[in-house]
Amino acid sequence: MRIGFDFDRVLFRTDEFKEHLEEEIPGFLETYPSEGVYDPQEHAEKLGIDPERIEQALEDAERFLYEDVQDLEELESFDLVIVSRGDESFQRKKIESSGARKYFDEIFIVQERDKDVGEIDLLADDNTEELERVEVPGVKVDRSREDMSEITDRIREKLEEQE
Ligand SMILES: [Mg+2]
Repeated sequence: MRIGFDFDRVLFRTDEFKEHLEEEIPGFLETYPSEGVYDPQEHAEKLGIDPERIEQALEDAERFLYEDVQDLEELESFDLVIVSRGDESFQRKKIESSGARKYFDEIFIVQERDKDVGEIDLLADDNTEELERVEVPGVKVDRSREDMSEITDRIREKLEEQE
């Protein structure tokens, strides 16, 4: 069994991280694209800065990983993968710097397509549209209400329902 985890707002405090980027790069939030796949080159152009600066700020990502990601150990009998949407190189760098890599077997970054990749049997995501787009069962994550061990409990329950 293979479980796909979204990264932003599931494993990572994305909104706090963006606030941090705003501190590092004033105007970051105001110019952040409201739709589509995030493109750091385009964003840097809009900000009138070198894209290097956005990349450098990614190095601080470790501080924004949810501490309870280590509770994913409760799912050690499963294959765990990250399925994230965004710019290939930006997302990979962010995920690598966050320190999340060691908990997962593989990382998939998608752009146009749905998140049903890498033969996952379930997707855990905070975004309802992402869950609706995939054929596999989904667990909707709400980090304002639950911690990782509650999420892993719900994943187990969902998988048991499927059997
Ligand atoms: Mg998300």
